[in-house]
Amino acid sequence: MRWVLDTSALFLLQEMPQGEVYAPNGVLMELEDHGDNRISFLSEMITLRDPSSISLERVDRGARETGDDARLSPVDREVIALAIELEAILITDDYSLQNLATHLGVGFIPLGKKGITRKLRWKYKCEGCGRIWSKNLSECPVCGSSLRSFRSKK
Ligand SMILES: [Zn+2]
Repeated sequence: MRWVLDTSALFLLQEMPQGEVYAPNGVLMELEDHGDNRISFLSEMITLRDPSSISLERVDRGARETGDDARLSPVDREVIALAIELEAILITDDYSLQNLATHLGVGFIPLGKKGITRKLRWKYKCEGCGRIWSKNLSECPVCGSSLRSFRSKK
């Protein structure tokens, strides 16, 4: 499964979705502008990639058709163009992006929706010492045993 995240998703997601996660460079730059200190952590988990001009033109055409062009930021354009290009599912809180995604036939999941927050809440338990980690590490940083993923109840 491929996912494209917009800035709202990067701000608010508790955990990365399972699969390949992409975002355009502009999204990380927006986080930087907001002084988000998770940049280096996030950039390890996300593949940064910018969409082609062909995909961007397709987005611009669609945005004119739906009337979303005035509300769409340059980064929003890149986000949705990337989702088209990679045939990925878009995760976004932004109503204009969701509207445009529907128009362009891009699958999306709104952030606030129960399904996804529950699905994304994975935790990792060390099989040695039993410590719980919020991200999937190759081994437990404390005792070196392997981790097992499970769904957190909260
Ligand atoms: Zn351990």
